[in-house]
Amino acid sequence: MASETRDPDVCEQCQSIRPATPPPDSCCGSGCAVCVYDIHDQEIQLWKKTCKRKHGAEESQIEDNGTVMDLMDYRYYTLQSIIPVCANTAVYRFMLPPGRKLDLSIAKHIILRGIHNGKVITRQYTPISSPHDAGFFEVLIKLYLSGDMSQYIKQWKIGDGVEWRGPFGAFTYQPNEGHYMIAIAAGTGITPIIQVMRHIVENEEDETVFRLLYTCRNYDEILLRETLNELALYWNITIIFNLTQSLAGSHSTEYGEIIQYGRFTQERLSKEVAASMGRPVRALVCGTRSFENDMITFLKESGVPANSIEKF
Ligand SMILES: Cc1cc2nc3c(=O)[nH]c(=O)nc-3n(C[C@H](O)[C@H](O)[C@H](O)COP(=O)(O)OP(=O)(O)OC[C@H]3O[C@@H](n4cnc5c(N)ncnc54)[C@H](O)[C@@H]3O)c2cc1C
Repeated sequence: MASETRDPDVCEQCQSIRPATPPPDSCCGSGCAVCVYDIHDQEIQLWKKTCKRKHGAEESQIEDNGTVMDLMDYRYYTLQSIIPVCANTAVYRFMLPPGRKLDLSIAKHIILRGIHNGKVITRQYTPISSPHDAGFFEVLIKLYLSGDMSQYIKQWKIGDGVEWRGPFGAFTYQPNEGHYMIAIAAGTGITPIIQVMRHIVENEEDETVFRLLYTCRNYDEILLRETLNELALYWNITIIFNLTQSLAGSHSTEYGEIIQYGRFTQERLSKEVAASMGRPVRALVCGTRSFENDMITFLKESGVPANSIEKF
């Protein structure tokens, strides 16, 4: 790195993530309202701020009153712990002021902002902690080898300040609407679904029947299995763990777990929909884009109206 690009206010560790200066010919010279150099200046300010807050040089912006997370402005949250759950996936816990709750309504996600290769990046994540948990919130994140945000997250250390804003999401839910709910999730797509299931079981009056089809490659990759098994103890919740790359008998199981194998097909989803016995189906789908598209096609072919299918 050239010495003129080093900033004396920025620590040694953060010097390496300095936003790259645009090359001299990147400004078109026609006086654009927002020039590439304006954007670069903003990125540099953010880089300096991130360094200060990361190392605790600036106070947390969370006020004593009001919400602990803001919709418009990013605020810093201190990373308290990282608990690995399986290869490349961990639960990241962030501190909130004592007694304060994130208080998200059902199936909402929040936005993480980071810097990778000198570029500001943002991605959505869905907290998995209960809205009633006080003093912290948790997100379950899977890291990808070639993922930009994944590379940023990989550098996190306990005590780092991390920027979040939110909540977002249009999902709404009313208890006892008479629906037969079918949720189809793959991998980390389980995160919003867990929120919906928790919401249903926390209301003793809610008699909504909920069936989760959760697909993973193998038994060890089932995320939050203990939490899901606890939810499956409720009379109105059924969970099918579906393994695409394992055979029956090739893995351990816990008492009561229902495990199926292979890919979800049109035929399998038609049977699931038929099990609703005429009750109106409300379907929730969450996974990769191609998984979601396939499941939506199967559900529609099985007779579920498009306006009863939601993806997160
Ligand atoms: C509403 C919403 C909520 C979300 N909640 C969560 C959550 O709770 N936990 C969580 O881990 N993620 C969640 N995601 C996904 C998350 O926002 C990022 O897309 C993900 O972390 C990858 O970001 P990245 O920058 O590391 O990868 P990117 O730079 O965006 O992608 C680069 C490469 O990584 C790989 N990759 C990225 N995503 C996937 C994937 N889903 N499956 C397979 N390969 C992939 C691909 O090879 C891709 O080409 C959510 C997404 C949305 C839209």
